Amino acid sequence: MADLKRTHIVMLCSPGVGHFIPIFELAKHLAHHDDLTITIITTQPITSIPDSYQTIINSLQSDIHLLSFPSPPYHSLPESAKDESRIMFSISHNLPRLRELLRSLASSDNPPVALFVDLFGVDAFDVAMEFKIHPYIFSTSSCFALRFGLHLPKLDDVLTGEFQDFLEPLRLPGCPPISPKDMPDFMLDRGNTAYLSFVRIFKRYVEAKGILVNSFEELEPVAMKALKDDEDVPLVYTVGPLVRTCLTGVVNGAGCLTWLDKQPLGSVLYVSFGSGGTLTREQMKELALGLEMSKQRFLWVVKTPHESKPSAAYFGGQTPESITSLEFLPDGFLARTEGLGLVVPAWAPQVEVLGHASVAGFMSHCGWNSILESILHGVPMLAWPLYAEQNLNALMIVDGLKVALRPQVGDNGLVTRDEVCRVIKCLMEGMEGKELRERMKQLSVAATKAVAEDGSSFKSISKLALDLKIL
Ligand code: UDP
Repeated sequence: MADLKRTHIVMLCSPGVGHFIPIFELAKHLAHHDDLTITIITTQPITSIPDSYQTIINSLQSDIHLLSFPSPPYHSLPESAKDESRIMFSISHNLPRLRELLRSLASSDNPPVALFVDLFGVDAFDVAMEFKIHPYIFSTSSCFALRFGLHLPKLDDVLTGEFQDFLEPLRLPGCPPISPKDMPDFMLDRGNTAYLSFVRIFKRYVEAKGILVNSFEELEPVAMKALKDDEDVPLVYTVGPLVRTCLTGVVNGAGCLTWLDKQPLGSVLYVSFGSGGTLTREQMKELALGLEMSKQRFLWVVKTPHESKPSAAYFGGQTPESITSLEFLPDGFLARTEGLGLVVPAWAPQVEVLGHASVAGFMSHCGWNSILESILHGVPMLAWPLYAEQNLNALMIVDGLKVALRPQVGDNGLVTRDEVCRVIKCLMEGMEGKELRERMKQLSVAATKAVAEDGSSFKSISKLALDLKIL
């Protein structure tokens, strides 16, 4: 499998588009930097990765090998299990397979020197260490989220009661103040299995030989410095933004790109809630009517609503083919917005959309990959966080970086059509939107420089490649 005398790295990837895209990109960048052989293992069958992402798989170079472990029997978990618990199950279920694989690789001509895991793969550390393989973590979110996670075990030790009962926001050096409403949803019940697992996981981060973060120094200088200055934290490498680059031959996604070609420059709001985000039926209606009232051009990727779970599409099941009816949109909406807006089911080629000259704003669920893609293309955002650490990400881009606006959620949990219309107009037409766009353009320049030759992340990846060679 692996070539002789090349440094061999194994990367274990938990399920979800937001995890495998950055891992694949990391592998491609590392392989470019030095003569490394990389084995990527997904914990979901390759065939279950949506067709739209197969281009990424096909673009892997020959020194990157791809293997997949089966999905676990998710049905054996209680229905109430959080996504985070399901993802962790995909790792724990496959640890015996990982052990067998590492055993066989360890006795090959080219044994691996390091195992990279993402946030959910920390339990694989023990297996790696059995074969004297060094464990590394690839944190696929911000330095801010990493700081927060590393602080979690300490918080858990000293605090009693639930986080939402605290009156004072949490203050970490280099990060905006975090109030309970900004915390990841798994933190709002300290008895929950997902919460307890995260405390255990973050306690183990210190065992890693190094931590890679999909961010760049110029984006989060203070949070990054705080991480570097903390003696308890392993060596941190900022390697981002690692995002999928535009590919030739990408699927046009229900004609998105040809439609965008026909729109005026800088006129379209792109609306998408990531690979997994869903809204309730009532919220979809308010969003649709707010879009219509704003009279702005829009490209909206819709998913079938879900009444209780904002990440209902995360584990797949909603594809362009599976959404056969748009009856959840308000009566007459499509006819009234014809010419002004395009609604596409389930998926759009997001990187290409954000890179299109007609797109001027992005209403997003604030997944970290989406944020990095928007930064890279200089597109200011409307922050609509839904699940996982997205509240933290929203806090960072709205209050910290000031490149996004956030609609107010009413007491009934809904963002009204008036509020939707207000923030859209503010972003697309107002003075404030102009300022956000200006700041985003500056970040875009910094992001492009960070990954270009001699940029901060480029150097960090080179250093990582060197450090790996001398393990
Ligand atoms: N994505 C896409 N088209 C879509 C929805 C998502 O290409 O219609 C890609 C997006 O470009 C990003 C990833 O899927 O790279 C989603 O990752 P993110 O971290 O933003 O959110 P998640 O889906 O993991 O919640």
